[in-house]
Amino acid sequence: MKLEDFPKTSFDHSHVPPGVKEGEKVECQVCMMNFHQGDPILTMTCMHYYHLSCASDWLVKHTKCPICGTVQVIDEQYQ
Ligand SMILES: [Zn+2]
Ligand SMILES: [Zn+2]
Repeated sequence: MKLEDFPKTSFDHSHVPPGVKEGEKVECQVCMMNFHQGDPILTMTCMHYYHLSCASDWLVKHTKCPICGTVQVIDEQYQ
C-alpha cells in the first residue's frame, strides 16, 4: 500500500466517526483544527480520518495512526 492508495474524500458533517454525535465538532488529531464541510480528508486503514495534507505529512514521518496506533502499511519505496 502506498500513500496514494488511501481513500480520499471530502469531509461531510453527516459522516462522523463512531462515538461522535452528528453535528458535534470533529477535530483533526494531527493539527487539532476542526474539519469544515468539504475539506479534503484521507481515511486511514483503521477508519480514522484526517485532513488530506495533515495525513500526508504525518504518514511520511510516522507509520501509525495518531489516535489508535494502528500501523499504516506504507510501501517504503514510495516515501
Ligand atoms: Zn489537520
Ligand atoms: Zn486509528
